[in-house]
Amino acid sequence: MAVTKSDTKLLKNFINGEWVESESSEQLEVPNPATGELLARVPISTKKDVDKAVKAAEAAFQSWKNVPVPKRARIMYKFHHLLNENHEELAHLLVQENGKAFKEAYGEIQRGIECVEFAAGAPTHMMGETLSNIAEDIDSEMFRYPLGVVGGITPFNFPMMVPLWMFPLAIVCGNTFILKPSERTPILANRLAELITEAGAPKGVFNIVHGAHDVVNGLLDHEDIKAISFVGSQPVAKYVYQTAAQNGKRVQALSGAKNHHIVMPDADLDKAVQNIISSTFGSAGQRCMACSAVVVVGENDALVQALREKADGLTIGNGMDEETLLTPVIRESHREKVVGYIEKGVQEGAALIRDGRQEMTDSKDGNFLGPTIFDHVTPQMTIAKEEIFAPVLSLLRAESLDEGLDYIRKSRYGNGATLYTKDASAVRKFREEADAGMLGINVGVPATMAFFPFSGWKDSFYGDLHVNGKDGINFYTRKKMITSRYDY
Ligand code: NAD
Repeated sequence: MAVTKSDTKLLKNFINGEWVESESSEQLEVPNPATGELLARVPISTKKDVDKAVKAAEAAFQSWKNVPVPKRARIMYKFHHLLNENHEELAHLLVQENGKAFKEAYGEIQRGIECVEFAAGAPTHMMGETLSNIAEDIDSEMFRYPLGVVGGITPFNFPMMVPLWMFPLAIVCGNTFILKPSERTPILANRLAELITEAGAPKGVFNIVHGAHDVVNGLLDHEDIKAISFVGSQPVAKYVYQTAAQNGKRVQALSGAKNHHIVMPDADLDKAVQNIISSTFGSAGQRCMACSAVVVVGENDALVQALREKADGLTIGNGMDEETLLTPVIRESHREKVVGYIEKGVQEGAALIRDGRQEMTDSKDGNFLGPTIFDHVTPQMTIAKEEIFAPVLSLLRAESLDEGLDYIRKSRYGNGATLYTKDASAVRKFREEADAGMLGINVGVPATMAFFPFSGWKDSFYGDLHVNGKDGINFYTRKKMITSRYDY
């Protein structure tokens, strides 16, 4: 199928294999967060646009579901090849619209490619189960079938990896898909549409409707959408989960985070500091697995000093510059919110030991904010409780591992947590008692790979089946049981 290049200035929706203008005249600008340069304009599509996409996806589903699974998997092999071939170009696009460092963008695309690798194993993953002789002359078999049209709603911070958590697995299982990318990072999605089409996905199997709330509500309310995958902030995740579930849809909603790193007195100081610095300040702290609170166990002032010194030495700048570690936050409005949190931290009595406001640039020169560290933060303070999603680190003091585990237990979020230690019994205690879905032992960003579920707990996740791995297969398929008697 011929690939049509998308309009770089006013983005179009991708419906039924074609680039289609939105019904809406409302648009948002998409600036480069590091330079303010206008990259594109994104349409704020309407429910009418959603209806068109659902109609196309529903029609495509009728034939796509019957395409043999190995044939669907072969499209994933081709897609995988194309993603690898265009890895550098995709990373450039990602840096431009999101602002993260090139190395991180390259790594994000690699993680996305691994999701496609997993999806290519669909013939094995989709196998059912059988048991002969469940009663005399009776056998039982379980087969897996796709659900129908599935919607995916994604955040700005992983514009490549998060869509790739969703649509390769959804479509290889036989569903058709409508993606609603973040309106703040919509450009890469259109490139993905070009590549999956070039890989052989038939018309209507993968669709994009750009926009914001109206598109989300259009997907949540449409009776022909059978399931919703969502990744984004906590209030929206909860809303999406409740609305989609109330409308009878299957739903997985991955939400916000507040990840604690506990540093025990016996930890390797240099390695712990290195991990914490890159976990906290990489991608400007805009990662759901970023460290945002360090629990300092014991009188470890050397740790505090080392974190401050390392933060002082970070290179702040455009993600295209090789030495840059600290890149801008996504929008000026987000930076204003973060500054509000810094003011709140000071008001509530935390000790501001490094103030990133001193490195703030005029927003027309990028939404930069320097590394910020608060010491002597208590669990009751706003900066300890809420997700800030920025290069802001809180240090909480604790006398024991138990006290650190208690901080984690009391947090409303439970996405990730890390322990730095050499002590095996501390590791075991942490593994058994830490109240979060993804744990790291001496690992700064314990994000799981595509063949395992990506799994937060508490208010970090609403639903049952997580994204990726076997959970992903279960989410995008439904099971049918056949019971057969052979004594006729
Ligand atoms: P966001 O909630 O603002 O947006 C996510 C999506 O929801 C976007 O497509 C957006 O258009 C839509 N949306 C936003 N407000 C809406 C509303 N009121 N009604 C309907 N739709 C709405 O999130 P974001 O700022 O783009 O992304 C950052 C958030 O995502 C952080 O909270 C981060 O922790 C979270 N996140 C979580 C994970 C995870 O695995 N748990 C992964 C990545 C990001």
